[in-house]
Amino acid sequence: MDYSICQALKRFPHHVQALIIYDICCQWSLHFRQHISESKFLELFDSLEITGAIGKWHLAAHIPECFPKFSLNFVEGTGEVDGEILETLWSPLDEVAGMAQAMSIPHAQEVIDDHMNDNNWWKIIRMCRDSHRMHVYHETDIISS
Ligand SMILES: [Zn+2]
Repeated sequence: MDYSICQALKRFPHHVQALIIYDICCQWSLHFRQHISESKFLELFDSLEITGAIGKWHLAAHIPECFPKFSLNFVEGTGEVDGEILETLWSPLDEVAGMAQAMSIPHAQEVIDDHMNDNNWWKIIRMCRDSHRMHVYHETDIISS
């Protein structure tokens, strides 16, 4: 996890803030900076401020003390996000999972990849549609005020 996060954050050298949403962020974040300082393979910009959060579905299984510290409800700027990505993809994959079990491994991987890519494609389409709606909404709000 540490390596993945460091590699991902390297791609945004000019950003000063990052939000990491992870199922067990309460445990992972305890020693993240220490792991980086002790590793010769991990690096992170010192100026980067990292905010840790836990997806809403996973947070319900944590101890009550985790809620105020890691709930996305209290992270400014996150908007309405549940912080769950993979789990929401599992349900649509159930439709092809039975069929994929009868396929050869390469064929099953191709079919599952195709469905995941289709899901990602529709996410992008909906993001564009929704951001356009928000833009129109804000313009309307500015004009009417
Ligand atoms: Zn927790």
